[in-house]
Parts: sequence; C-alpha cells; structure tokens
Amino acid sequence: MRRNTAQIDLFGEATDKPSLPTNYRPLRPAHFDVFRIYLASGSLATPERRRFVRGICSLYPEAKVVECLDTPHNRIQLDGADALELHKLGKHTLVLGELKVAVRFSQEKGNACPNYWHFSPSGFCPYGCKYCYLAGTQGVKFSPTVKVYVNLPEILWEIDRISGSLGRPTAFYLGKLQDGLALDPLTAYSTVMVPFFAHHSLVRLTLLTKSAHVERLLELEHRGHTILSWSVNPPEVAAIFEENVPNMTERLEAMKLVAAKGYPVRAVMMPIVPIEGWEDLYLAFTECLLKTVPIQRLTLGGVCIYSGARRLMEQKIGPYNAISSNIDGNLNKAGDGRERYSEALRHRAYSIIVEAARRLSPDVELALCLEDKALWQRTGLGSHVGRCNCVL
Ligand code: SF4
Repeated sequence: MRRNTAQIDLFGEATDKPSLPTNYRPLRPAHFDVFRIYLASGSLATPERRRFVRGICSLYPEAKVVECLDTPHNRIQLDGADALELHKLGKHTLVLGELKVAVRFSQEKGNACPNYWHFSPSGFCPYGCKYCYLAGTQGVKFSPTVKVYVNLPEILWEIDRISGSLGRPTAFYLGKLQDGLALDPLTAYSTVMVPFFAHHSLVRLTLLTKSAHVERLLELEHRGHTILSWSVNPPEVAAIFEENVPNMTERLEAMKLVAAKGYPVRAVMMPIVPIEGWEDLYLAFTECLLKTVPIQRLTLGGVCIYSGARRLMEQKIGPYNAISSNIDGNLNKAGDGRERYSEALRHRAYSIIVEAARRLSPDVELALCLEDKALWQRTGLGSHVGRCNCVL
C-alpha cells in the first residue's frame, strides 16, 4: 500500500501535507446499510476529493446520491416526523462534506476528567447502541446522519500545527463524537492517520471504537503512537443494549489481533449496567477480558446521559429498563448536567471490578470516566486521576 503521508520528520514538524487515501479499494463496512448519500459543501471541491467521493459512491449503486454542494454537512434535512424517526433515518444516511473546525480542546466541567484534544474526521456512527449519549447531543439531534469529512489532510495538518505550540507528547482523541473505526473499510483513513502519528514525535492517536474492522491496521507501521481502545461490556448487557454492533467475541478477537501487532490496547467498560445478576456477570467478563487481551489500561464508567439521549433510549426500549431504573433522580443536572446512577451504586460497581482486575492483572492501569474526584479516591484510584482513556 502506498504511503499517504509524506515526510513527517521525527521532531514534530511535518514538512509535507498528508493526502486522502490513495491506491485502496473502498469496502462496505459491516452494520451500515446506506439508503441515501448526500454530497454536502466542500465534498467535491478538489480533484482529490472528487476521486475519493466517487470511490465511496460507487460502492452503493442502490443508494440515491443527492448533490447539495451549497449545504453544510450539518444542515441536511431528513424527512422524519419525530426525533426517533430522524434518528433511524440518519443511521442509513451518509453525508460527505468537510468540517472546518475539526480539532478541538474538550470543555469538561463538573467532573475529574482532564480536558483533552480531540478531532473528527467523521461524525456520529452507524451502530445502534440504545444508550448512545451522542444521540442526545445538540449536533446529532439536528443532524443525526453518519458523516465522513473529506478534509482529513487539513485536519492532520492542524494537529501538526497545534503540536508545535504544545511542545510535549500529546494525545489527540478520536471517538468523542463518532466511533473511531466503524467506517474504516469505506474511507481507509487509518492508512493516513496511523503513519502520520507514527512519524510524528509529539502527537499520539487515541482511538475508541466498537468496530472489529482492524484489517487495515494490521498492515501499518505504528511505532506505538496509535493507542487503540475498545468499548466493552458483558455479552449479556450488549445483547440488551447494543443493536447492530459487532458482538463481544468479534471485538475481543480484533483486540487480540492488534495487540499481537504491538499496538497498545485499552478498554472502556461503560456504561456498566446493573441488569439482574450484574455483579457475577461483570466479574466473569472482567476475567475473560483480562485473560484474552493484554490490556494496558481499563477505564470504568456508569451511565452519563443527557436528558435528550435518555428520552430517545426510552422511546426505543421503554422507561423500565436497567439504566433508567437506576438513574438517581436527585443527581439530575448536578455537576456536568449528565444523569447518573447513585453514588453508592457506582462505588459498588467500580470497587467490584477494580478488585477483580487488580487480582487478575496487577499491572493493568485502572481509571474512571466522567467521575468526580471523591469517587476516584473512595475507589482507591485517587493517585490515578487524569490518567484515563482519552489521554496518554
Ligand atoms: S458506538 Fe458509540 S456513537 Fe455509535 S451508537 Fe454506540 S454509543 Fe453511539
């Protein structure tokens, strides 16, 4: 495969611009049936983008392709009567466009998470997790389509520019506003990103996914600068709350494959869901996970959901589910505005899994996601605050 990033030197200064993937065959990703493709503004702006877009469209001859080159990617109108219908339609709608401000610094408040850099060469995701927190965010609510931003080279160039002012190794996280790998068969963006980060002395890629599409990653030189992280849960929980998503066996197999190729591998067990018999299920799954994959860091979290996402979840599965029933109404709008389980339940869940993980794999780093400092401390992880999934 031809290298798509040219001349990134080892001292943090890129001397030539990365390009869109070339010389690759787009493939249909699993779990994504495309009914309609919109070509939004910027998508056909250069010959390189036109070639790339043509390759993707040709994969879906049955899909209707709509050119709307004056419309930004987030202003595409879908014909859905309500939020749920729009959401379902959006999962079958691919928008190709450009995202001008695609590299951002997070603005977390009200929890112990460190702020971090994140970037978006794609937006949202074709999978159907019922608890999806992204589904309730403003951006997705008004534009619930799956997006590929064709300005990847400019995005990486911006990361390089920012790295110059940081002056120290810094992670750039892919997975905050999308699944980081689900569309890789279609875009082959990994073949540009992984070499870009590999040849850069200052920037590192942290990527979160539920995808099993690691085929392209196995061929790439990464130099340990790409950290791959999987969102996991016991199969019994996934069966209830994750629809149209690679199953846990597929995810574990993917994790094993990339670990064998030397990638640092992490896992995020979130949201922990207290279904019937959950303590035993989580203990058994933690054991399976740590015995199957050499996990470097395991981050735990409960549900952290905005009210819009909760409404959507309850429209899908009804209000009497193991997540909604355990949300503590008294914590509504506290801290960072997300709804959570009671502190007692979160503490119990984290303590059980932390204790098991320490016993099974003493070297695994443990962390909490979107939690407050007091709970980190009560769980015995106070000295780890700030060393969680999205950062180095
Ligand atoms: S993988 Fe992530 S972004 Fe995609 S549906 Fe599931 S929770 Fe939402």
